[in-house]
Amino acid sequence: MSAAQIVVVEDEPAIRRGVVDALTASGYTVAEAADGGIGYERSIQPGVRLVLLDLLLPVRDGIEVLEEIRKVRPTLPVIILTARGSEDDRVRGLKMGADDYVVKPFSARELLARVEAVLRRAADRPADMARASLGKAVIDFQRREIRWSDKERTELSDTETGILIFLLENRNRSVSREEILTRLWGIDPSGLETRTIDMHVARLRAKLRDPSGKSSAEAIVTVRAHGYMAGPDFKLDEPPPLQAAASRK
Ligand code: CA
Repeated sequence: MSAAQIVVVEDEPAIRRGVVDALTASGYTVAEAADGGIGYERSIQPGVRLVLLDLLLPVRDGIEVLEEIRKVRPTLPVIILTARGSEDDRVRGLKMGADDYVVKPFSARELLARVEAVLRRAADRPADMARASLGKAVIDFQRREIRWSDKERTELSDTETGILIFLLENRNRSVSREEILTRLWGIDPSGLETRTIDMHVARLRAKLRDPSGKSSAEAIVTVRAHGYMAGPDFKLDEPPPLQAAASRK
């Protein structure tokens, strides 16, 4: 049996069945789970490209599952399946890094459209980007740090890490401050200070500056009147071995 591409975590049997059938009919390989414990285990298996996650679940709730998934697979796409009216949960989910949400009851067509859109967006991103390098700097996204040598390292905050990953995911174009705000905080950016982003970017640039002064590689380029773009000298490491193993049958 080939590895599941999509994991459906939903405790309501009728909804779970409907979602699994719709995905299977569209050609996806699907694994399912009726509680958050099994859901988490299945979600972090190699080969998984997307998780559909209910929030109110037995054993472990969806937000907790999402939080745990993010620790291990920071960029794995997750779509939240949410009940109408539970806006707080939705906002919490998006803040925790969910990629999208669908409100129950949803049609198979709507769900498939969301799934395709999220997978399309994810196709450009370095799968589970573990590390990148810039000149002498090795950026370890999981450990949230920049290593210059065995002894010299600089810690990155979650926000700085998020901004850098987002810039690298979109390294062929510039991204606006609003996009960064929406992506990182998952909410309508109107009324939020885009200057916040400028502050984080300034800090990131300072942290990525070669302390020996030998490299002048530009980490983040300012695109006038628009936003930011990752510098051309970043190198992205191959996805971790887990992924390579997953592609074997
Ligand atoms: Ca539920």
